[in-house]
Amino acid sequence: MLFIFDLDHTLIDSSHRQLTRADGTLDLDHWRDNCTKEKIMLDQLLPLGRQVAHYLRHLPPGRLNIACTARVMGSADYDYLAAHNLRFDAILSRPEGCTLSDADLKEKLLRQFALTQRMPFRRLMKTAFFWDDNKTVRDRFTSYGVTCYNPLKFNTENAQ
Ligand SMILES: [Mg+2]
Repeated sequence: MLFIFDLDHTLIDSSHRQLTRADGTLDLDHWRDNCTKEKIMLDQLLPLGRQVAHYLRHLPPGRLNIACTARVMGSADYDYLAAHNLRFDAILSRPEGCTLSDADLKEKLLRQFALTQRMPFRRLMKTAFFWDDNKTVRDRFTSYGVTCYNPLKFNTENAQ
């Protein structure tokens, strides 16, 4: 079984670093300017993030747990995940300079990941569960047989 977790708005509240444009997309220039170590370390784990950090420390065998994020990951991002016990088997992230939409990016990343697992993409997706707050991502992967969850309800109901 493959468990896939988005980061922003799913496990991590990084909203203090984000500026959303009127059309709902992220202002990537603003985001990049705010990707300093100090600001990243001020991100908060969402309730699902706390749950997943606990789960990753008490892993049932035979499961693969990966992060799949539209972030370009820098060293402070990796430090943040390690500091909060979010230790994944793999972290798939946006290559520098890549401007694909989140859904296209995540499909590309997971197709590459399937190759590393020597598994046909579609067969791997049928064993997968994906938590992502982005509906276009959930819709895309639902069409491949992935069981997709919107983390919003859990995070709202369990907010402190
Ligand atoms: Mg997200």
